[in-house]
Amino acid sequence: MTSTHRPRKRFGQNFLHDRGTIGRVIGAIAPMPDDPLVEIGPGRGALTVPLLQACGRVEAIEMDRDLLDGLREVCAPHGDIVLHQGDALTFDVAQCHQGAGLRLVGNLPYNISTPLIFRLLEQAELIRDMHFMLQREVVDRMIAPPGSRTYGRLSVMTQYHCQVKRLFTVAPGAFHPVPAVESAIVRLTPHAPGLTSPEEAVQLARVVTEAFGQRRKTLRKTLRELVPPSAFPACGIDPGARPEQLSLAAFRCLAAALRDADSPEHYTGAWNRDGR
Ligand code: SAM
Repeated sequence: MTSTHRPRKRFGQNFLHDRGTIGRVIGAIAPMPDDPLVEIGPGRGALTVPLLQACGRVEAIEMDRDLLDGLREVCAPHGDIVLHQGDALTFDVAQCHQGAGLRLVGNLPYNISTPLIFRLLEQAELIRDMHFMLQREVVDRMIAPPGSRTYGRLSVMTQYHCQVKRLFTVAPGAFHPVPAVESAIVRLTPHAPGLTSPEEAVQLARVVTEAFGQRRKTLRKTLRELVPPSAFPACGIDPGARPEQLSLAAFRCLAAALRDADSPEHYTGAWNRDGR
């Protein structure tokens, strides 16, 4: 295949070559025939080939045009590969496999992993599960509980949309070129429909973004433009608390107060401008 292709840093290219790791990742995904698999960043096909062997068909999104011919060549004997050349950050996964029950996988380019996760969470209703290789530090932030140093916007939004499980860590030597940091495999399983809603997700994202935007400040200060002061006692939250102390349930309660405050009958007061 593309023996002349050199790994590109700007595309976050650290290709998996360790057979044992590839086997463990595929085992964790447990692909079954006809699963609607979508791979992000197939690269040289390290995961794509065994996925094709198990499922027969994979749709994949790859940004680097120079990898596509080699990828088609290496995949052809093993099944049906549908390649979408483009940026996963703007690609709409609903285009794949009729956009239902999608199983997303990928050894994600580290430079776009966090914004990509936020984008995919917004489309969680199309997704059955996601298995991603990420920097270990990113996975640690996803699973972090309230009160921990790494708890933040990524933790709250990931845990709102999905059940999150860190499966195993992967040493840098499994990749070429060797990255500077450890990696980890995470499984994200979106919650059943009805447990979340797109409207609530939008309100929650607003509250969480404001609160963690200045994480050293108290909620009373950071949220004064968003939620009425009465929301704090109503939700059982100390307005002098910092955002990392709040559980997902507490953030949801504040998001509900934001929704109520957004409704027209609440625009009669000036609380949201002067902080009273
Ligand atoms: N899956 C391969 C493997 O495990 O060896 C490659 C993984 S490599 C870490 C990340 C892959 O994502 C590369 O193939 C890279 O070209 C691709 N990529 C980088 N940025 C991308 C983007 N914005 N959209 C889609 N693919 C991207």
